[in-house]
Amino acid sequence: MNQSKAISNEEITSFGAVQLNTLFKSGKLSAIQIATAFIERIKTLEPSLNAFITLSEESFFKKAHELDFRKSQGEELGSFAAVPVGVKDNICVSGEKLTCASKFLENYVAPYESTVTQRLLDEDAMLIGKLNMDEFGMGSNMKNSAYGISRNPWNLDRTPGGSSGGSSSAVAARLCPIALGTDTGGSIRQPASFCGIYGFKPSYGSVSRWGVVAFGSSLDQIGPLAHRIEDIGLCMQVISGSCTKDSTCIDRPAQQYLRAQDQTSTTSEEPPLANMRIGVPHHFLERLNPDTKEVFYRHLELFEQQGAQVIDVPLDILKHSIAVYYIIACAEASTNLSRFDGVRYGKRSPKAENLQELYKFSKEEGFGYEVKKRILLGNYCLASEHQDAFFKKAQKVRKMIHQHYLNAFEECDFIITPTTPSGAYEFDAQMDPLQVYLADIYTSPINLAGLPSISIPAGFDKENMPLGLQITAAPFKDKELFQAALAIDPLCEKSTPPLNKLVKQAKIKK
Ligand code: GLN
Repeated sequence: MNQSKAISNEEITSFGAVQLNTLFKSGKLSAIQIATAFIERIKTLEPSLNAFITLSEESFFKKAHELDFRKSQGEELGSFAAVPVGVKDNICVSGEKLTCASKFLENYVAPYESTVTQRLLDEDAMLIGKLNMDEFGMGSNMKNSAYGISRNPWNLDRTPGGSSGGSSSAVAARLCPIALGTDTGGSIRQPASFCGIYGFKPSYGSVSRWGVVAFGSSLDQIGPLAHRIEDIGLCMQVISGSCTKDSTCIDRPAQQYLRAQDQTSTTSEEPPLANMRIGVPHHFLERLNPDTKEVFYRHLELFEQQGAQVIDVPLDILKHSIAVYYIIACAEASTNLSRFDGVRYGKRSPKAENLQELYKFSKEEGFGYEVKKRILLGNYCLASEHQDAFFKKAQKVRKMIHQHYLNAFEECDFIITPTTPSGAYEFDAQMDPLQVYLADIYTSPINLAGLPSISIPAGFDKENMPLGLQITAAPFKDKELFQAALAIDPLCEKSTPPLNKLVKQAKIKK
């Protein structure tokens, strides 16, 4: 075999999952080389970013050694072999701490493996650690983590988004090529958009929720964040598909996202987006801030030039989605979080002298402000005297939102909007809590309707922060959505975060 030039650690960490797996399988890189490069980078940048809650260095290296050994024995290894994967800290990895970024679960160790991580392990992934998040998935900017904020590698004074902000920060800074996040109202797509990477929220029921700590059970989905679009496809074809442990997971085998991509890249004369009918809810976007609007419509024009047909879809009903989302999400959270009572899980207040006090003090000490607020809101909406006015009404509007989307998909193949109304903002930006909620306007209706949706990087705001384009498809058209994103992606304006500057700054700090 030709001895080729050594690949530097910087190059190694710049590769995506598919590339790392190929280099490992072809013998150009060992799993130990890959593991060492990523751990070194984490050691340099983590003090500036705080993306991890738990770094699983020991088991990570152990897995790397095992993979190198198995490879030396001629064993056929899986599609994630030697790929470092970060996992949001609300997903169970057996034997690892599972905190949900809450003090309540400070010392809680997951007793079993989630379906998604099991499937990645079956494909020989190397799990690198647990990523920071807003407590129990509630939030949009990482200010609700009990373990401190994670920072945006594009600008350390800005939020990486939330609630999967540790995942977006880590992937954008190349601390891992891919990470799992969860999305209840936008928590994969919004942080992906803020950090200039890809984030995929599958159709509700495409990916098993077994082993994810429930926030809003009828909204939650696990999905990947990555800095290479093909890695999204690779991950989806491993983690999706039926699971007997989650009754809301549809009975359908995982689809081959990547093979389909190869088949479509034929040498056709047609422009890349020929025959694609893109729905845009123009009226709903009217009040968008001018920066985001300009970038969005500039991209749309490009898509039209490349053969897409842009159709106006009347989705004014989406203006109700924030109210509906926060009623339903809080109602479901208030029941889901009742299991954290000081008896069954996590924190048990030492102050308590009787059972009532045990419940009271444990929750008081364990939960952060936002979580307490949402439990109260949820209980209020579910109380018998308020149920009709809030919860039941919200359910009715949710159904209408779903129906309006289905009607829109009679006219178009995909719906495109910006992912967020603006780029990532500064941590000390003066935003009241309502403003933060309102910024979920484009992402949350998609969870209400259970649709698949992806955020891809597309342009920058005036302060040079990345913006995202959100592409959404009809229920269970996840693979078609991925293919559309593949076709659209090369037309979108993007660049990489100023990582060298970040590394230099970090070195100086030490
Ligand atoms: N920002 C939303 C919220 O705070 C979304 C959260 C999520 O998707 N987990 O509820």
